[in-house]
Amino acid sequence: MSEPPSTLITGIGELVTNDGEPNDGKPIDGKPNDGQQGAFAALTGAALVIADGRVAWTGPAARAPAADAVVDAAGRAVLPGFADSHAHLVFAGERSAEFAARMAGRPYRAGGILVTVEATRAASDAALRANLRRLGAEMLRQGTTTFECKSGYGLTVPDEARALALAAEVTPEVTYLGAHVVAPEFAADPAGYVDLVCGPMLEACAPSARWVDVFCEDGAFGADEAAAILAAGRAAGLQARVHANQLGPGPGVRVAAEAGAASADHCTFLTDADVDALVSTPVVATLLPGAEFGTRQPFPDARRLLDAGATVALATDCNPGSSFTSSMAFCIALAVREMRMTTEEAVWAATAGGARALRRTDIGHLGVGARADLILLDAPSHAYLAYRPGVPQVAAVWQAGRLVAGAPAAGRESPG
Ligand SMILES: [Zn+2]
Repeated sequence: MSEPPSTLITGIGELVTNDGEPNDGKPIDGKPNDGQQGAFAALTGAALVIADGRVAWTGPAARAPAADAVVDAAGRAVLPGFADSHAHLVFAGERSAEFAARMAGRPYRAGGILVTVEATRAASDAALRANLRRLGAEMLRQGTTTFECKSGYGLTVPDEARALALAAEVTPEVTYLGAHVVAPEFAADPAGYVDLVCGPMLEACAPSARWVDVFCEDGAFGADEAAAILAAGRAAGLQARVHANQLGPGPGVRVAAEAGAASADHCTFLTDADVDALVSTPVVATLLPGAEFGTRQPFPDARRLLDAGATVALATDCNPGSSFTSSMAFCIALAVREMRMTTEEAVWAATAGGARALRRTDIGHLGVGARADLILLDAPSHAYLAYRPGVPQVAAVWQAGRLVAGAPAAGRESPG
């Protein structure tokens, strides 16, 4: 039996592995070792071997084994692919006028999620699929090798079910968010809508989904409703995640902790008890600074969470209303500049943190055995992601060992 072809990437100026002590990078029971302990870690003058879609070896370039193909990183940095654990990509239409009015401080009456709901319901499958695939490709080119995708702009049984079926075509991280807002048809009967979300809608959606999510906020769903929706989802085999504490203090983080959720997302307004809950449970605090940027709100207090010992992830919240960015690099730059995360913390949160928020051990790090999802930066270190904000710096992207975007040749150094 012949071995699958292998690739050696050598001359890596900085190789971010997220495989820090005490993780030794060895597979555990034949499974990739990601580590639960894998802190930010980086090697200089490094090399990495890809074989069979996985990381087969990392270490000093001088000691690298031979491989079928060789890529010279020419002193540039290699990072794990970004894991964007929060995105709303199944939608139609756009809301740039609403954004422009908000930035200008002008009232804008015809805005909001229901505008997107109306456009999404009216769109064909083909139009929704094309928009979703365009955004997925845009993410991949920018180094996002795993993304989560939610429903939530259908709010009827058939519209939610088709959103999730479309999402499942492009990612395994599919999230049922029938509980985004109360559907307009149920404005006078929110309890009836919760029954629908927990009943026929869930039944139609669960086969396409891995996760159940709820927007737990004033004006959306309260603590009891959110807990009921998450419990129904769990009974249907879905794991929980929660939109929590975005617009003000509220029960979202507590509900997430009590439901055993993988992640509480936003975490912009937290009490001390919320921070305690995030520290004392495995719930990841996923921060979405694109949303605060897009709505000109105060950023979440990342330092408070990190200093208390919470696990923090960064994600884009890509959606047409509050955060229409697909750029994890932009979120890293915001996190460093506006939220006082170190460059190491921000890059870890955008890679290993996102993996943790998706309960994935095979991505978010480049330990031996990890899926070979990696980015070659056109820069010597991870810090450039924040140091040169707004500049495209992803030279090449590998997904499961396959070159899927860009070109690894160091054009400037070796013309022709
Ligand atoms: Zn969201």
